[in-house]
Amino acid sequence: MCCSPPVPLTPGVHWFTPTLPVHVFDADAAGPTAVIQAGIHGDEVAGVHALQEMLEEGVRPTHGRLIVVPVMNPPAYRARKRMPEGGLDLNRCFPGNADAPEPEYRLARRFLDLMLDEKPALVATLHESWKRYDPAVNPSFGQTIVYGVEPRPPIIDRVLERLNARFTGEQEHFDPQYFPVATSSTEIIVDACGCVGLCIETWMEFDEARRIEMQRAVVDYLLDDVGVRKL
Ligand SMILES: [Zn+2]
Repeated sequence: MCCSPPVPLTPGVHWFTPTLPVHVFDADAAGPTAVIQAGIHGDEVAGVHALQEMLEEGVRPTHGRLIVVPVMNPPAYRARKRMPEGGLDLNRCFPGNADAPEPEYRLARRFLDLMLDEKPALVATLHESWKRYDPAVNPSFGQTIVYGVEPRPPIIDRVLERLNARFTGEQEHFDPQYFPVATSSTEIIVDACGCVGLCIETWMEFDEARRIEMQRAVVDYLLDDVGVRKL
């Protein structure tokens, strides 16, 4: 049966639920900790598949620690829905509650506790959106890196520059978006841990393969920039 990961967290695979693995990799060289998660919304699959591909290929940090959670909400992912039938939006259940009857609140608490223990430099959540970003339409998220605390973390502009040099097709351009949502998981984690917290949003009108390629590129550039996996 699953259990809470050990504290301090050891390298390996830990299980938040019987279907929710948390992959923890340590590099030989010291460095920061980065956390990359996807599938907090079950219909946003590109980030899930990007992380699964990277895990299958043996992604490892060059410095510090890399924590990968490819599917934060397995029931939602199986249903390919934002939340499962009768379930809650996990992204709105933070800071969570260990004693709540709803599994989403218990999971949120467990994940936040992990973040408090690990003190990551970076937490990135991989999302997708049906609305392509338009500065005049708020909210519209597709092709953005979203942050909720001003000033804009400088890593965003550096990663956007690399993304926009690589993805040059029509509508593929990525933009930063300041969108504070006090009840979102990212913002609550940022408030609690003082880390950089970002949401990555690809536009779902693109083919899934292209969106996966974009999500992988974002993860590559984020990990390179934060110093956990130098390219
Ligand atoms: Zn989402």
